[in-house]
Amino acid sequence: MNRLLRISLLLFALASTAAHAKTPLARGTGGAAATISEQATQSAITILDQGGNAIDAAVAAAATLGVTDPFSCGIGGGGFMVVYLAKDRRVITIDHRETAPAATTPTLFIEDGKEMEFDTAVASGLSVGVPGTVRGWDEALRRYGTMSFEQVLAPAIDVAERGFRIDANFSTLVARNEGKFARFPAAAALYLQNGKAIRPGTLLRNPDLAGTYRLLGRDGVDAFYEGPLARAVVDTVNRPPTAPGVSVRGSRMTLADLANYEARVRLPVHSTYRGYDLYGMPLPSSGGVTVFEALNLLEGFDLASMSRAQVEHLYLEASRLAFADRDAYLADPEFVDAPVAGLLSKDYATQRRALIDASHAASGPVSAGDPYPFQQDPSQPLRPTTRVPQPESAHTTHLTVSDKDGNVVAYTFTIEDWGGSGMVVPGYGFLLNNELTDFDFTAPHPNIPEAGKRPRSSMTPTIALKDGKPAFSIGSPGGSTIITTVLQTIVNYIDLGMPMDQAIDAPRMSQRNGGTTDIEPGFASTMQAKALVARGQRWSDQPEEIGAANALVFNADGTVTAVSEGHRHGVGSAQVQTPKR
Ligand code: GLU
Repeated sequence: MNRLLRISLLLFALASTAAHAKTPLARGTGGAAATISEQATQSAITILDQGGNAIDAAVAAAATLGVTDPFSCGIGGGGFMVVYLAKDRRVITIDHRETAPAATTPTLFIEDGKEMEFDTAVASGLSVGVPGTVRGWDEALRRYGTMSFEQVLAPAIDVAERGFRIDANFSTLVARNEGKFARFPAAAALYLQNGKAIRPGTLLRNPDLAGTYRLLGRDGVDAFYEGPLARAVVDTVNRPPTAPGVSVRGSRMTLADLANYEARVRLPVHSTYRGYDLYGMPLPSSGGVTVFEALNLLEGFDLASMSRAQVEHLYLEASRLAFADRDAYLADPEFVDAPVAGLLSKDYATQRRALIDASHAASGPVSAGDPYPFQQDPSQPLRPTTRVPQPESAHTTHLTVSDKDGNVVAYTFTIEDWGGSGMVVPGYGFLLNNELTDFDFTAPHPNIPEAGKRPRSSMTPTIALKDGKPAFSIGSPGGSTIITTVLQTIVNYIDLGMPMDQAIDAPRMSQRNGGTTDIEPGFASTMQAKALVARGQRWSDQPEEIGAANALVFNADGTVTAVSEGHRHGVGSAQVQTPKR
């Protein structure tokens, strides 16, 4: 970022601190939080101030995001939480990804022998996976938290009941989904006015969601997975309550699907990069494996001695190769024996790195490699597929929290598309996900729909340690661009030496083994872009904002810096318990 932009950002940050607490950058001591929502960050700090730990505060922030950012996330969806436990000095992860109902078959999205149109699949009962978020929160609190549902949901209940003024970003998201919400009266009642998106400045209350959170506070996790609320979810998914004249496909979810839903506590995926120990989300998220494979490819280049353009060229090429492997091999590990050890082996990276042309971009999509010789057990190879990857949406939210004792949470959760399936559970105030469209629609592929399976994800909550201590956390929303946002931010921070706020603010480029690279508006005409075009890089002609990252940096002087977005998705919100200038 140039100096002027940086100064204006800082001034902007200071001005917003003066007007209200919303600033994307904060440094200090005690706990810290960064989310995309001012109210959510405040909920985390409130819980920390009440003596809760980072896990308690992360759930409080997430529940608040379910109110203020309901199109990205909520209890109708699922997610992945990575936690550094200071006392045990170890990292664990909680997978609460949605599962396909037991009645699911590989032809879930096939109609008349053909793949269903993506948008038709999204706005239907078929796309809804069994929601995992509430089970995930419960697992997190019971195992690693110190507070009850009742305590951590209180700040979110307050926001849902009192309401909040929606901003332009919120209204734009509704406008983009008017058609989807109009199909479902319960969604239209919340987010539309006379069939049109509610306007910026509108005070939005969600008493139904407040009531749902209260129910969870009173009766605990079972109130979501059994009883009237579970029945309402199943009814909505199987017989979607639509506007007159609208009909959408229903599913065959059962009460048993909900009652049987389990979150998984999994070991993180681990790798090293230039002296850092990186911990990320294992399968069924492809995030950790893909970022770490790309970093292994980059590790063989002396990036510190190179120009920014050269580093960025290599970043794009490494991402291309890693995505070819991701698309070919990665899926739910309970269904598919994916060659993760091979993909993450440094020797495999050495072999695959030879495919990178340091002076010119690949001419188009590249093939997946063969990681099997680098597996400990190379016996049963999957056949890599070279099919064009399934379209994926680009939404979700990421938050990160630390506490005074050194615990750190990096948490990404979602309902998939903006507004998920578009179906609000009547009387309960939350949107249901469309996560099952993250499956590949056509067999054979490791990531096809199967009963009880979790669709492959891109979510990449990541915690980095250095010398055994937390160094930084990072994560982002954005569908499959999550992976490139996390990768690029790590390269910006570690290799290009940018402070984390600059690393996050820098223009994003997302190369996911396509013919062109996705970029953000205004980028193509910059000198930075031209230097990459000179190396054969090509841009997509529909630039769009990419991601909305949040990070924490643990500084050598014992302070922590919380960093959110300075200009994407509105402006994010970073706070520390005790600010320090
Ligand atoms: N469904 C996506 C995933 O799990 C996340 C949605 C998004 O970020 O847009 O990877």
